[in-house]
Amino acid sequence: MPTAARPISDVLLTEAQLRRRVSALGAAIAADYAGLDPLLVGVLRGVIVFMADLMRAIPIPFTVDFLAISSYGAQSQPGQVRLLKDLESNIEGRHVLFVEDMVDTGLTLHTLLRLLNERRPASLHVCTLFDKPRLRLVKLPLRYVGFELPDRYVVGYGLDYRQLYRNLPFVGALSAQVLLPNGGGTENDAT
Ligand code: 5GP
Repeated sequence: MPTAARPISDVLLTEAQLRRRVSALGAAIAADYAGLDPLLVGVLRGVIVFMADLMRAIPIPFTVDFLAISSYGAQSQPGQVRLLKDLESNIEGRHVLFVEDMVDTGLTLHTLLRLLNERRPASLHVCTLFDKPRLRLVKLPLRYVGFELPDRYVVGYGLDYRQLYRNLPFVGALSAQVLLPNGGGTENDAT
C-alpha cells in the first residue's frame, strides 16, 4: 500500500484514552491550584491541542499565555533556543504552570524553566502530556505527567512530523516509509 494511505504504523493512544487522562490531569490541577489564580504557559505549536483540551478540563479561574521558540539548528548546543515570541504576561509573583506536549532529553524545557525562573514567579511547575524518561539528559521535576512513552517518534494530538499530522485525534507511530533516516520533527520549529 502507498505511504500516503498508511502513514501511521500503529496507534499508541486512542482518542478515548487521551480524553480520560486529560480530564484527570485537569481535575488534579484544579484541586492543587484552587484560589491561586494560576497562569498556564505553553510553547507553540505542539502544545495547542493538549492545551485546548486541558483548559476545558480545569474548572477554576486561570489565565493562559504562550511562548514561541526555535532551535538554532544542528550547529547549536543542545537545548539552546531562540525566543520567537515572549510571554505577554508579567509572571513575577504568579503561580505558573508550564504546559508541555513532550519531554524528551529535557534540554529545551530546562532552558525555558531557567528563563522563567529568572522572572521570579511565586511557583513554577510542569505538566507534560508525554514523557520519554529513557531519553532524559537533565533531571527535571515534572509535577504532572499524562503518559510515559517508549522511545519512538510519535505524531498526532498536536505533534507533527514536518508540520503534518498535528490534526490526528489519536497518537500514533509513523510508518518506516514516512520516517526518513535523517530524523523527525522540523528543522527550525523546536516544538
Ligand atoms: P527535548 O526534551 O529533547 O529538549 O525536546 C522535546 C521536544 O522534542 C518536544 O517538545 C517535541 O517538539 C520534540 N519531540 C520529542 N519527541 C517527539 C516525538 O516523538 N514526536 C514529535 N512530534 N516531537 C517530538
